[in-house]
Amino acid sequence: MKEKVFFIKTDEKESDDLRCKKLKEFLVSQKILNFIDENDMVAVKSHFGEKSISGYVRPLFLKMIGELVKEQKGMPFLTETSTLYKGNRSNAVVHIEHANKQGFGFNETGMPIILADGLYGDEEYEIKIPGKLYSAVNIASLIGKVQAMIMISHFTGHMIAGFGAALKNMGMGCSSRKGKLIQHSTAKPKIKPGDCTKCEMCIKWCPADAITMNEDSAFIDKDKCIGCGECLAVCRFYAVAFNWKATYEDLQKKIVEHAWGVHKANEGKNIYINFLTRISKDCDCMDKYEKICPDIGIVVSNDAVAADSASLDLVEKTSGKKFSEMGHNIPYRFQIDYAAELGFGNPEYDLIPV
Ligand code: SF4
Ligand code: SF4
Repeated sequence: MKEKVFFIKTDEKESDDLRCKKLKEFLVSQKILNFIDENDMVAVKSHFGEKSISGYVRPLFLKMIGELVKEQKGMPFLTETSTLYKGNRSNAVVHIEHANKQGFGFNETGMPIILADGLYGDEEYEIKIPGKLYSAVNIASLIGKVQAMIMISHFTGHMIAGFGAALKNMGMGCSSRKGKLIQHSTAKPKIKPGDCTKCEMCIKWCPADAITMNEDSAFIDKDKCIGCGECLAVCRFYAVAFNWKATYEDLQKKIVEHAWGVHKANEGKNIYINFLTRISKDCDCMDKYEKICPDIGIVVSNDAVAADSASLDLVEKTSGKKFSEMGHNIPYRFQIDYAAELGFGNPEYDLIPV
């Protein structure tokens, strides 16, 4: 049986105000949030972006969703988790400060921000899953304590995951620090000394201070490296090598198993809303923005795998290209294919225009 995926079409010229109005009309008319019960704690998971130029979902959408949750008598709050690397999202204090600067404060969204993995990103909840890689995964502790989740994801490219949407927002975005480290554990790059020009760009960007300059080339300390892949993205001389075969398949499968844990924590009380707008080559964690596709719309489903599958198809149909020709040139379907193989979600869908 196919999953229902609702599709709210937008175009380039449409304002965010109009998009928000259309999304609200759909959510209300179809009673999409009626699964929320009185006094449910409802985690609204999104991403606060890096810089205002990037494509993250803007606060007005979250405000509207929070208001609808309150109409259901639920208790909504915004949530996120700490990053593995140092920066303005690496613990709860700096992350909340950053979110406020980005316009996600209580005055703008009507919701408090509560980090799902605690002050330092280490508060976790181990949830059992019937995975092929893991029998249990480490997700942020708060995800195991709420009664419902609304997963708001911005569709983007990603240098290792291929693309990021609901599954990545859950798998990576809702894991504890330990869960994130486990997912990145095999993605350790190497520098090719013959290609390195010693420009030091990778050193500037490495969030883990894992790169130093040797006499001939940059050098990566594997013990410090967290496998984020940023050195690969910023090296213009193709001097950073990844074992891609081991990396992209491995990471994408690990993301899916962690996402399954997040889904299972509140099974039946999750909704997935993917924004196919301001679609960028890299994820919203990056301090750069390169738009790669015209704005398409917003998809909504009870099934994360169907939501991502439909999103990817819509992007490829709109652009007339394979996603690997638009984003990073790597295999990008492991997340969807592996989720289907596990029995977590359904990539087959009926697209219902609204
Ligand atoms: S960015 Fe590339 S070329 Fe520059 S120092 Fe790093 S590895 Fe070498
Ligand atoms: S992948 Fe590259 S940028 Fe990321 S931590 Fe390792 S060395 Fe640093």
